[in-house]
Amino acid sequence: MARRLARLAEIGVVELPGAGERAVKALGELGVKTVLDLLTYYPRDWADRRATSTISELVEGRETSVHARVRSVTSRRAGGRRSFVQVVLADTKGARLPVTFFNQPWRTRQLARGDEVVVHGRPSAFRGGMQMTNPLLDVVAVAPRAEERAGTAGTAGAGGTAGAGGSDRSRPRRRRRQTGRIVPIYRQSERSGILSYEIADLVSAAIRRAEDECALADPLSAERRRDLGLVSRSDAFHKIHDPGSASEKEAARRRLAFDELWRLQVALQLRRRAAVASSRGIRHSARGELVRRFVRGLPFELTPAQRHGLAEIAHDLERPVAMHRLLQGDVGSGKTVVALATLLVAVQGGHQGALMVPTEVLAEQHLLAARRLLTGLGVPDATRLGGERPLEVALLTSRTPTSERSRVISQLAAGSLDIVVGTHALLTGEVRFSSLGVAVVDEQHRFGVDQRAALREKGSRGLEPDLLVMTATPIPRTAAMTVYGDLDLTVLGELPPGRLPVRTDWVDGPLAEAEVWRHVRAEAAAGRQTYVVCPLVRPGEEPEDGEEPEGGEETPGAEARALHSVVEEAERLGSGELEGLRVGMLHGQMRSVEKEAVMAAFRGGELDVLVATTVIEVGVDVPSATVVVVEDADHFGIAQLHQLRGRVGRGGMPSSCYLLAAPGPTSTAARRLRALEATADGFELAKADLELRGEGTVLGVRQKGRNDLRLASLLLDEDLVVLARELAGAVLDADPGLERHPAFAEELELFVGEEEAAYLLKG
Ligand code: ADP
Ligand code: MG
Repeated sequence: MARRLARLAEIGVVELPGAGERAVKALGELGVKTVLDLLTYYPRDWADRRATSTISELVEGRETSVHARVRSVTSRRAGGRRSFVQVVLADTKGARLPVTFFNQPWRTRQLARGDEVVVHGRPSAFRGGMQMTNPLLDVVAVAPRAEERAGTAGTAGAGGTAGAGGSDRSRPRRRRRQTGRIVPIYRQSERSGILSYEIADLVSAAIRRAEDECALADPLSAERRRDLGLVSRSDAFHKIHDPGSASEKEAARRRLAFDELWRLQVALQLRRRAAVASSRGIRHSARGELVRRFVRGLPFELTPAQRHGLAEIAHDLERPVAMHRLLQGDVGSGKTVVALATLLVAVQGGHQGALMVPTEVLAEQHLLAARRLLTGLGVPDATRLGGERPLEVALLTSRTPTSERSRVISQLAAGSLDIVVGTHALLTGEVRFSSLGVAVVDEQHRFGVDQRAALREKGSRGLEPDLLVMTATPIPRTAAMTVYGDLDLTVLGELPPGRLPVRTDWVDGPLAEAEVWRHVRAEAAAGRQTYVVCPLVRPGEEPEDGEEPEGGEETPGAEARALHSVVEEAERLGSGELEGLRVGMLHGQMRSVEKEAVMAAFRGGELDVLVATTVIEVGVDVPSATVVVVEDADHFGIAQLHQLRGRVGRGGMPSSCYLLAAPGPTSTAARRLRALEATADGFELAKADLELRGEGTVLGVRQKGRNDLRLASLLLDEDLVVLARELAGAVLDADPGLERHPAFAEELELFVGEEEAAYLLKG
């Protein structure tokens, strides 16, 4: 019988030899309570201490190990109270290396002439040779202590095995060698007082304990491991914590990463299967007059990608099972049109559509777009002359005035409102639909699973609405498979024709900035327009778009600095750099009618420059605009800058994007700006974003199972993601309830939580 991981989750670290009260408490603070926790408390790095030199080969400042014999050990006092131990080492060639230990008086008891040791450290120059100060030291062999006489300063010592002996509290009893091997470095907790090497010792104890009576179970058979090119689980746990080489460590990491990905894939696929099994969807009829008229009335031809995407969606809509589909497409690829056509399928069948977006401003922008593209469309109404009434679209956000709000709510319940565009406000209990047929969620990554589910529950008569979620941030396909593995995927892989690449420059310093404003004036003289984007509406206020500051972990400088505001900047530019030009303002605190008036003026060419917040990020489409200037660009995330840049380059004229940043941005901010300069490809940028922000933030809180992704990297392990997905699919096809794979089922429970696993497996 082999031991399963679940069993290891039942053994507390307290039970491990060497786990004292202090260590147990400290580990607890690190979230490590069981032997399983300890086994999966992976090193955050590995230090390679295998490089060795002879003494004469030492190079100043270059970290290395030296294998040598102790010549002498002396305790010294240098003025005042500061004492140190001086050890002289000699190698087989006879060269000498003086080594000094400060604050380690016990070294006199540990070491004796003739002992064989390895020291690891950074040599410094000393009297024509080299020396080391406080190096790591391992005793390799102990010289025979002729007499057991104790305590004579300088030479005596209690013998013993490597590193053992002595009663000093700071020396753990059983310590692994720190030199001549690859040493794991653990995230330690200095506050609660547990250090990396103590964790390493306890991990070794945990591994011994895990395997003391029986081997560790491996849910992958030897044959399957061979096919997948993976090492055994037991090997992997050993080698991740104590690799003999870099390739052993990588093989271990891949195996454990595979396990993480595979558990996640099983959970995702089960979730999806459960959703399909329990779904009572609406059989829409995707072909119909309303959608046809909409498409025919558009001011452009659909791109092949849009047509293909719509066909996939139509296929889903016509099935009796509710759609769960992700529409992924780069900025400006035209997702809005696809969303509207999808909503219209619901409407033409007598149902309603809802479009949910994460912010007020986006909701208003989408409403504008919808109004613009849907004008003139009518829905069947037998009570009307001509058998039709105009299609009704309305906005619902937390800022909608009370009277308007009650009108919207009652019309939704009555079925006289066809499409509602809104924020989280749509999720409140008062909002009931007469018959919600299709729900679209834009900028999906900003919503949680629960919110998406809440929207789906707005269906009536037990019918589940079809769901389309859209992401404006393209993420690499493997990441999508992982984060959105429970959704079908449609990719809009091309932009509408006529888009020119936008020249992008990171501008810092007043001279370069003057050049920017000169360019803006020249464009205005030629009848072209400019956006100037600022993070704030008024000085000192919060940025208005409510997105969490990206890469904010290390931007103290940015926080301390005053950010530009629309109100001040419009004033400053209008009477300074851009004097004589027609400068307008747009931000989220303006009333809708004001916003509409300003946008109309800008679109109509009555304004040369629009100073705006990120309200223009989505939905704003003015082909004659050729320049976008982003103030405090270092304050914005990659995805947002990419969106903002997407506002220009739409009219077939060369366009520019200027990223203005205060001198000396943080290193991550600098890398973001450089990434924007280097590429216009959304997928490339998404990768850069993943690298810079860390995968955890990109995954967000979407998946419960995500906490299990410790070693897997969505960027490095694309092949494993694919393999894991295939394996999960094959196993579940053959055994949907995992009855014949109890080990899989048990692990799923362990990592996604019992309740969730029970729910997933019941069906
Ligand atoms: P995103 O995918 O970023 O949400 P939008 O839906 O806002 O992109 O579309 C970007 C712009 O492209 C909009 O102004 C839209 O009207 C326009 N557009 C969409 N589809 C096409 C098309 N097939 N041909 C030309 N322009 C299009
Ligand atoms: Mg969009």
